Amino acid sequence: PKVLLTGGSGFIAAHIVDILLSHGFDLVVTVRSEDKGKRILQAHPDASKDKLSFVIVKDVAQEGAFDEAVKSDPPFDYVLHTASPFHFNVQDPVKDFLDPAIKGTTGILKAIKASAPSVKRVVITSSFAAIVNAKKHPNVYSEQNWNPVTWEEAMDHSNVYRASKTFAEKAAWDFVEKEKPNFDIATINPPLVFGPIVHYLNSLEAINTSNQRLRNIIQGQFKAQIPPTGTFTWVDVRDVALAHVRAIEVEKAGGQRFFVTAGYFSNKDLVDIIRENRPQLESKLPSNDSPNDLPADIYKIDNSRSKEVLGIKYRPLKETISDTVDSLLKVGA
Ligand code: NDP
Repeated sequence: PKVLLTGGSGFIAAHIVDILLSHGFDLVVTVRSEDKGKRILQAHPDASKDKLSFVIVKDVAQEGAFDEAVKSDPPFDYVLHTASPFHFNVQDPVKDFLDPAIKGTTGILKAIKASAPSVKRVVITSSFAAIVNAKKHPNVYSEQNWNPVTWEEAMDHSNVYRASKTFAEKAAWDFVEKEKPNFDIATINPPLVFGPIVHYLNSLEAINTSNQRLRNIIQGQFKAQIPPTGTFTWVDVRDVALAHVRAIEVEKAGGQRFFVTAGYFSNKDLVDIIRENRPQLESKLPSNDSPNDLPADIYKIDNSRSKEVLGIKYRPLKETISDTVDSLLKVGA
């Protein structure tokens, strides 16, 4: 079977590429430049042109951005849509976040409906951001929950990323309901994703958003004080990537959201794990008696659907953090 994967240059997408190839899929990735495409091919010297190639989609927010990319010979069976902005450098909430997230998602669904009738399923990388209600946490988080954020609240720069994920996922489910295309969809909803870097990195400055705090810890930036954790739930990138691939391989995954999370963490837990497992970094770390801000009465999290339907077995925090730190040291942290 043949897959189109958007945002191929990304942190999570690079792991999806690895798993798709190892599961025998043929694959075309979309990237924003020739350079980024070539880097992906270089990372997989054994994959032939039929197995792995790239097409350029410069900006997913553009009208018709995917009209050509979805056409292929032989045609695509599945599409995985990961491309969406994830950073906190907000200038214009609509242009920088809401447009690429929402129009990128509806645009690819429209293009598939119009020009790729062979596609059976589209898996969309959504987020825990589309689930969480930061103002009033429920007792338990599961796929039942939706972030109640409004368009007006989305104009607040601190809300816009989460809002972009919420509106984009809603737009996808609405599209399927209204347009009744030949394909079904599934969404993967991870919280903060940690894990080793397998994509090309220009520099440590360019590290993906969710691994930034690990880089900061091992560079000594938490030494004086550990900043607030923020979101207390996490997952390993390799488990997230596998969930995307399983969501196309498992028939009954269609029509479902998947809250993929391994459990809780706090910034203090990250520091403790690094202290224990990579003692050579001790001089960069804050003192052992720094406070831990993980609340004792934190909401519950229900990841049972991802385990039962997709068969995900979640990696433990210690393994993920040690592997991530090793990978950061390798790229020069
Ligand atoms: P990255 O920033 O590494 O990946 C984002 C990808 O989207 C990159 O390939 C980027 O291309 C591409 N992209 C962004 N904006 C555009 C645009 N306007 N046009 C075309 N391509 C674009 O982050 P992640 O791998 O972490 O994120 C991948 C997906 O996972 C996103 O949808 C994100 O919202 C979601 N996610 C991530 C979580 C995390 O903690 N990492 C948690 C929950 C969800 P380029 O490299 O050229 O900039």
